[in-house]
Amino acid sequence: MSSSRTHYEVLGVDARDASTEDIKRAYKAAALASHPDKRASRVDGAAGDNSEFLKVQAAWEILKESASRAAYDARLLETARRDADVVVSDEFDIDDMDAEGSSPTKFTRRCRCGDAYEVWSDELLASFDAIDVPCASCSLHVRVRLTGGAAAAKFDAFAMATAAATAAAAAAAGTKDDAAS
Ligand SMILES: [Zn+2]
Repeated sequence: MSSSRTHYEVLGVDARDASTEDIKRAYKAAALASHPDKRASRVDGAAGDNSEFLKVQAAWEILKESASRAAYDARLLETARRDADVVVSDEFDIDDMDAEGSSPTKFTRRCRCGDAYEVWSDELLASFDAIDVPCASCSLHVRVRLTGGAAAAKFDAFAMATAAATAAAAAAAGTKDDAAS
């Protein structure tokens, strides 16, 4: 996301302060400036290059409605938060966490602030080596390594249960034909 422009940048408006009127004005100007017909008459050989024009259209489609603009803003914020540097204060094996329940198992460990780091086994499916887990209350993160034998066994059991449930669902839907032989 860092290399590509946001819809706001495409239109050259302020993400926080621009009103729908501001955006509409900026869109009209940008659409005019990037219109393929205009470009063709101005620059030799540039005929047919409508990529900027399409970006301007896409930006307008999202930003003209307050609902889709709000949803887009939320996505930008989430991306920024994910890209921000996470400070990892500690690192330990998942075997050092308390486990409770199964399918999914909840792993917890007390944070020094008094609250706890908490991660569910189904979140572990996405990352096999290590996962950065935030504290529920403070800004600290810990890196949890997924190398422990006991954790691996629990994880395998969970993965198998998930696979079995998926297969059962597929069988129920009648889409398992080519898997069986
Ligand atoms: Zn904490």
